[in-house]
Amino acid sequence: MNIRTGYGYDSHRLVEGRPFLLGGVLIPFQKGGMGHSDADVLLHAIADALLGAVALGDIGLHFPDTDPAWKDADSRMLLAHVVKLLREKGWTVGNMDCTVVLEQPKLRPHVEAMRQAIAGILGTPVDAVSVKASTNERMGFTGRGEGVAAHAVVLVHRTGA
Ligand code: MG
Repeated sequence: MNIRTGYGYDSHRLVEGRPFLLGGVLIPFQKGGMGHSDADVLLHAIADALLGAVALGDIGLHFPDTDPAWKDADSRMLLAHVVKLLREKGWTVGNMDCTVVLEQPKLRPHVEAMRQAIAGILGTPVDAVSVKASTNERMGFTGRGEGVAAHAVVLVHRTGA
């Protein structure tokens, strides 16, 4: 097959005193994602979707949270590394569609900046990157503001195909 799809999911707890990085963009908010890396839930979901498309495992395998090398790691760098792994195997990123689930803050003002940041890391046109936002209607951990979740679906194709 010269075309494949991949799916990624991630979630992080939101806590006081951490920067809120989402899609490679710093979002002004009183809380931020807790995690070993910079906890960018959207970039993690995208990285997992890309790895999944080519059956290369998941980001926990490539960047173990037991490894001090990845403490507070810049997730843009992790995602760029994943893209490099795909390219080495002859795969090119096509398009992606992502949904971030959180109650607050409103993401619409930041969506364009996130799309541009993601497209820049992946080397794709901005119109190949869709970022959507959804609340969870105040239900569950996202609805109560305890955390943020992200889903990503990607398409990859063989270079030249
Ligand atoms: Mg994560």
